[in-house]
Amino acid sequence: MTLSTIQNEDVRASVDAALDTLKESLRKLNHQIWSNPELAYQEHGAHDAICDFLEGQGFTVTRHAYGLDTSFEALSGSGGRLVNFNAEYDALPDIGHACGHNLIATSSIAAFLALSFTLKKYGLPGRTQLLGTPAEENGGGKAKLIDAGAYKGVDISLMAHSGNKKVFPDQEDSDGIAGTLMNARKNIHCEFSGKSAHAGGNPWDGVNALDAMVTSYNNVAVLRQQLLPDQRVHCAFMDTPKVANVIPAYTKAFWQVRSPTLKGLNQLVAKIRNCIEAGALATGCQVTITEDELYTDVRLNDKLCERYQVHMGSYDRKVLKRHDKVLTASSDIGNVSYVTPTLHTMFGIPTPEKTFPHHPTFAAAAGTDEAHAEAIIVGKSLALIGYDIITNDAMFETVHRQWQEEIARDD
Ligand SMILES: [Zn+2]
Ligand SMILES: [Zn+2]
Repeated sequence: MTLSTIQNEDVRASVDAALDTLKESLRKLNHQIWSNPELAYQEHGAHDAICDFLEGQGFTVTRHAYGLDTSFEALSGSGGRLVNFNAEYDALPDIGHACGHNLIATSSIAAFLALSFTLKKYGLPGRTQLLGTPAEENGGGKAKLIDAGAYKGVDISLMAHSGNKKVFPDQEDSDGIAGTLMNARKNIHCEFSGKSAHAGGNPWDGVNALDAMVTSYNNVAVLRQQLLPDQRVHCAFMDTPKVANVIPAYTKAFWQVRSPTLKGLNQLVAKIRNCIEAGALATGCQVTITEDELYTDVRLNDKLCERYQVHMGSYDRKVLKRHDKVLTASSDIGNVSYVTPTLHTMFGIPTPEKTFPHHPTFAAAAGTDEAHAEAIIVGKSLALIGYDIITNDAMFETVHRQWQEEIARDD
């Protein structure tokens, strides 16, 4: 068969057939990941289970890829364009798969299998990559993978995140949103150093590191009234005094700062640093501030969003192309969207009322047969987008041009 004689219905039938034969084993794999939640960079069980599964399907898998113990890479095909799928599988402390990353893994594995088998069946040039991307919740696995070269040569990057059907209160009813803006985020760690003294005997000889930390916290509390509606700042006190009768010489705090764009984030981080430094200055303490784990905002790609909407529509799912409000959470897929055209869609799964990701009730919703069935349909749609991009030059050029315009946008 040549490209011109392959009909769209044939491609869809091939994608459907590839996954129908793996129906039970995919459900089993999803359940295995969901029922054994593992935290960032400790996802050894999920890593091994997915690698074993892919090898069982005849794929060559690089375990512990790109210097990360719980990352892997599977590559298939030859020539043509390279379509990347991202599989996340980390969970949250105490509440398991309350972000539904078992469903992200499932949809990306399904997409990779369906597209790889279809390209092979028709003998078409084109390559697929399934990347195991650990530590999305905490640790920025994708940022490390970018630095290690994992996305080098990738032409588009695709993935899908589950959520409740209504992500925004003003959103019309739908089965998901193709393009969702997300906040850029950065972590700030600060350590205050003072001087111990007897709190009852000679407090005037002490330099109080707890006062420095509390003062800096209050400075940020004052700043809050000037934050933009979608900006977020949150803090945890990591190291605090355990006794009251000693002027504390050391404290440590951890801040997360979020803003809709990278530029806005940098401006806000500068203000937070001033608040922290002012706390140190007011109390006479020294402060060390370190920043890490930058998650950028997500740059949307209109064409990829449109293709997702079209393919989900062919499975009777109503998807909104985009929502202009920012989802104030953050993801390291944002970083990927700056290095290659990227789709990070949100798909709805059945949930009880008032259930949201990061709530324990969402973990239960992410483990159901209904949620699994949605993840498979989403995976099929991602595979079909991959097929579009591999076989349609004009479409790929549009995607690429839109991406260049998006990343050049300075706001
Ligand atoms: Zn999450
Ligand atoms: Zn998540």
